[in-house]
Amino acid sequence: MKYSKAYIPTLREAPRDADTISAKLMLRAGLIRKIAAGLYDWLPLGMRVLKKAEAIVREEMNRIGCQEVWLPIVQPRELWEETGRWNVYGKELLRFKDRKETEFCFAPTAEEVITDLVRKDVSSYRQIPFCLYQFGTKFRDEIRPRFGVMRAREFYMKDAYSFHANEADAEEFYSKAFNAYMEIFKRCGFKFRAVEADSGAIGGSFSHEFMVLAETGEDDIVSCEACGYGANKEKHLKTFPESGEVKAGEPCPKCKKGTILISRGIEVGHTFKLGTKYSSAMKATFLDEKGVAQPFIMGCYGIGVSRMVAATIEQNNDANGIIWTKALAPYQVAIVPTNYEDAKIREWADKLYAEIQKIKIPSPSMGEGQGEGDTLDVILDDRSDRAGVKFKDADLIGFPLRITLGEKGMAKGVAEFKPRSAANFQEIPLDRVLEEVSKFFS
Ligand code: ATP
Ligand code: MG
Repeated sequence: MKYSKAYIPTLREAPRDADTISAKLMLRAGLIRKIAAGLYDWLPLGMRVLKKAEAIVREEMNRIGCQEVWLPIVQPRELWEETGRWNVYGKELLRFKDRKETEFCFAPTAEEVITDLVRKDVSSYRQIPFCLYQFGTKFRDEIRPRFGVMRAREFYMKDAYSFHANEADAEEFYSKAFNAYMEIFKRCGFKFRAVEADSGAIGGSFSHEFMVLAETGEDDIVSCEACGYGANKEKHLKTFPESGEVKAGEPCPKCKKGTILISRGIEVGHTFKLGTKYSSAMKATFLDEKGVAQPFIMGCYGIGVSRMVAATIEQNNDANGIIWTKALAPYQVAIVPTNYEDAKIREWADKLYAEIQKIKIPSPSMGEGQGEGDTLDVILDDRSDRAGVKFKDADLIGFPLRITLGEKGMAKGVAEFKPRSAANFQEIPLDRVLEEVSKFFS
């Protein structure tokens, strides 16, 4: 992409109501714009990051055999009546009527809709197990929308639902989904922790939250380095009611050896074994080997894809702006000619721009030696602005690697090579730039 053609409206100052680092930086770097409380426009740069996160999630879901569907965001009241949730779900559920006075809600989640889909089409144990997932907008009329897209009212989620004939199969798949989630968040470069969450009536360790560690997180995580135990506060209090209000430094009630650590996290994903809660309520059954009708055993698996974008910024920023991870960067490389009008600089800038876009990056998703991998996304800052302005924008937006072509360097036959996370640049002979870029991203 040529910068001069890109729609990247950056701001010198964040709007006053931006309340976290990520919200400020997403607004300033031109990723999002707010239109009302909890409602955001996603601009091209934000979309690129969102789509990269989505692609990683999709690959890992497909790898464990899940299949993608698309369910409506408008859901009929009747389905919610069947599970009793029409009345139980609070004001987060935005209810409305159509022109015929029929009642609907905006999807905050899709257990009812998916259960309805499956009960109509699946009648035999031979047709299960499977897991269906979708990417799409969810709407929750949150009481306190805040932290930018982290707690929005309209947001982008991946939700998956699995259907099984027996507990053992549901549990086996649960662990596959758990591992897929671990892989997703690892690939995105998060410092995160999977913690036990309360699985309500199901019991056992069949609900986990995936927490990106950050001071601005809304959730308290209780953990122990010695035994690897980790739970959200609610679950911890249920598991160890005798320990009461937990404090950091206390002995771990699980292994009795280590000490309790309390940290803050941003919940980016949630896996949950649902059991027959929805299938029983909605009479969603299949015939087992003996011809007996049984309710499906279900699991559900959510990821807040739009929240992931904010969460990665919470973990990767400095005073000058965002520092993208290689996996989620909107563009991994920025080529910055200090003066694009200079014929020699332009020649090299154009050449590197064309060549770097062909560099293959390993696709960790495909495993050892498999897959073609992807190629690097490059932005060429062809604007006529002063170099200082271009550097400021590159730092604010946070491209992982900046390659600067200046008059002095050109005279010496070198380019400046500067990782966003490094304090200083390095001079690299022009004919070695491609090699160094490949190395940096391998
Ligand atoms: P939270 O406790 O943060 O409200 P939740 O338990 O309501 O989350 P789920 O119903 O499990 O969330 O939804 C799945 C995922 O969707 C969450 O893990 C989170 O990443 C994301 N999510 C939930 N609510 C929001 C929101 N208001 N804005 C953005 N993302 C959200
Ligand atoms: Mg919630």
